[in-house]
Amino acid sequence: MLDTETFSRDLITFRSEGSGPSISITLAALRNMERLALDCEDTETGGILVGRNAGRNVEVTDVSDAGPNAQQSSVHFVRDTEHCRKFLERCYRETGADYVGEWHTHVVRLRHLSAGDIRTLVEILIDPDYAFLSFAVFLVVVEDRKAELHVYIAERAGEEPFFRIEVVRLYKGPFPASTTEQP
Ligand SMILES: [Zn+2]
Repeated sequence: MLDTETFSRDLITFRSEGSGPSISITLAALRNMERLALDCEDTETGGILVGRNAGRNVEVTDVSDAGPNAQQSSVHFVRDTEHCRKFLERCYRETGADYVGEWHTHVVRLRHLSAGDIRTLVEILIDPDYAFLSFAVFLVVVEDRKAELHVYIAERAGEEPFFRIEVVRLYKGPFPASTTEQP
């Protein structure tokens, strides 16, 4: 679990204690996520995170929206796969950024990842086509027109083929961007 965030002008880093991996995200991407979350108060929304893996650490540079064909209800969300694929292709072409994580919202006071969320995460991490060592998950809990941010990192740990999946929350609290106005 964590508690330190490092603020710089345009990059925010969430670190675990000890030697655990970190997740960095640009302030612009974080603001975009907060806006998308608050624009959608009654149903879940979300999308993909793109950026790069640096060893076990994840650097997020852009976040997608859900797309026009997403399935959205107050307790369920499936992003528009084709829309997100095109978003990723565009980012890759422009900056070389790759698929590094997922984000979505909860709007019914569920303040942690659901069993379904964990299942999806495990499926991604055990998929040999991806071969992720670590993967970023941002959960935004939307309540009373406020957005609370939960940042998780999921990792493969242990020796192949008997690796296990570890999910650690690096941060829980307000969106850092909205609490750190430059003087
Ligand atoms: Zn969820």
